[in-house]
Amino acid sequence: MDFAFDDEQERLRARVRDFAAERLAPHYQSDDRAAAMRPELPGELARMGLLGLRVQREYGGTGADAVTTGLVLEELARADVNSCYLVLNAALVADILQANASPEQRGDWLPALASGDLIPAICLTEPEHGSDAAAIEFRATPQNGAWLLHGEKTSIMLGMTATHGLVFARTGGQGARGVTAFLADLAAAKREAFTDLGNRAVGRAHLTFDGLSAGPETIVGGEGLGFVQVMRGFDYSRALIALMATGTAQAAIDDALERARTRNAFGRPLGTFQGLSFPLVEYATQLRAGRALCYEALWRKDQGLPHTTEANMVKWWVPRMAADAVQQALLTFGQAGYSEELRQAQRLRDVIALQIADGTAQITKLVVARQLLGRDFAP
Ligand SMILES: Cc1cc2nc3c(=O)[nH]c(=O)nc-3n(C[C@H](O)[C@H](O)[C@H](O)COP(=O)(O)OP(=O)(O)OC[C@H]3O[C@@H](n4cnc5c(N)ncnc54)[C@H](O)[C@@H]3O)c2cc1C
Repeated sequence: MDFAFDDEQERLRARVRDFAAERLAPHYQSDDRAAAMRPELPGELARMGLLGLRVQREYGGTGADAVTTGLVLEELARADVNSCYLVLNAALVADILQANASPEQRGDWLPALASGDLIPAICLTEPEHGSDAAAIEFRATPQNGAWLLHGEKTSIMLGMTATHGLVFARTGGQGARGVTAFLADLAAAKREAFTDLGNRAVGRAHLTFDGLSAGPETIVGGEGLGFVQVMRGFDYSRALIALMATGTAQAAIDDALERARTRNAFGRPLGTFQGLSFPLVEYATQLRAGRALCYEALWRKDQGLPHTTEANMVKWWVPRMAADAVQQALLTFGQAGYSEELRQAQRLRDVIALQIADGTAQITKLVVARQLLGRDFAP
C-alpha cells in the first residue's frame, strides 16, 4: 500500500499552490464583494493547464487522472474555492464528451474546453425537480431537423458566465429513458443571477429557454440516453466536490492554528489551552480521514473499480464536517472572526453550498444505503 502522490503530482501541487497564492487568494474577498467573476480568470486557469486536466493530450489537454484532478481542486480551494467551479465543470464535461461524443464533436469541443473558449454549465436542475432529476419536465421538440429547447433550468453554477450548457431535456416519455443531453450554445438563453449566501463570484443563475434552437450535432450520446448512458458512472464528481470542501476547511484550520500560536489570553498563547486546541485537533483529524476516503474513491475510479459507495460516503459526510470545521476555525478568532475583514466568514458562507450541490446528504445516503443493503431496499 502506498499513500504518497508521485513526483509529477507533487510538482503540479507545488505549481498550483504558488499560482493560487499569487493569483487567486488576493482576489478571494474582492471578487465576493464585486459578485462577479474576473473576466481574465478562465484564461489564467487555462494557461496553467487546469481547464484541460481531463482533456486527452491529442485534444490539447493534459489527460490527468481523477486523483490528480482532486489534488488540483483541493489546492485551489485552499485559496479560492470559487475558482474551482470552472475547473470542476470543465473536467466533468470533458469526461462526458470523451465517453459519449462523436469524433467530430470531440474535435470541435475538447480543444475549446481546454483553452477556456468554451465554458460549460451543467443544466439539470429545474424549479420543480432537483433531487428527483429523472422527473425533469424541460422539453426538446423536433422541428425541421433541429430541436427547440423549451423550459427553465435553475441553480446553474457559472450560469452567468458559461458559453455552453450541457442541457438535459425530455425528448421521450416519462422517467430516465426519455431524457437527452444537448451541448447547447447559451448565447440566446435568458439569464438571471441569484443573490446567494456565498459563492457570489461564481454566478449561480436561473436560465430560461424560449424555443432556443439546437442542431442534431449538439446531442451528446444519442437521443434518450442522457441519463442511462451519459450520466452513468459519474458519481466520482462527488469526491471532487468533497475535496473542494476539504481544501476550504483545511485553510481555515491552518489559519486558526496560526492564531492559536500568536494570540495571547490570560498571559499565555491561546494554543496552550486545551479547550481551544482540542476542537482544532478533532477537525484536523476528521479532515485527514475524509481526505483519505476522497482519494480512495478517485483512485478506485482511476483503477476502473466501483467507487459509488466511497464517492457518496464522502459527499454526505465531508461538506458538512468541513462547514463545522470552518465554523470552529472562525470561533478561534473570537470577535474578529465574525467580521468580513477576515476570510473565515466568507469561507463559511462558501462551503455551506457544497452540502447541496450535486446531491444532498439525504440523497447520497440513499445511494450508499442501496449499495450496502441492496436494490430491494431502495425506497
Ligand atoms: C451551490 C449550488 C450549486 C449547484 N449547481 C448546480 C448546477 O451547476 N447544475 C444543476 O443542474 N444544479 C445545480 N445545483 C442544484 C442541486 O443539484 C440541487 O439543489 C439539489 O440536487 C437538490 O435539489 P433541490 O434544491 O430541488 O431540493 P429538493 O429536491 O426539493 O429537496 C429539498 C430537501 O428535501 C430533501 N429530500 C428530497 N428527496 C428526499 C428523499 N427521498 N428523502 C429524504 N430527503 C429528501 C433534500 O435532501 C433537501 O434537503 C446546485 C445547487 C447549489 C446549492
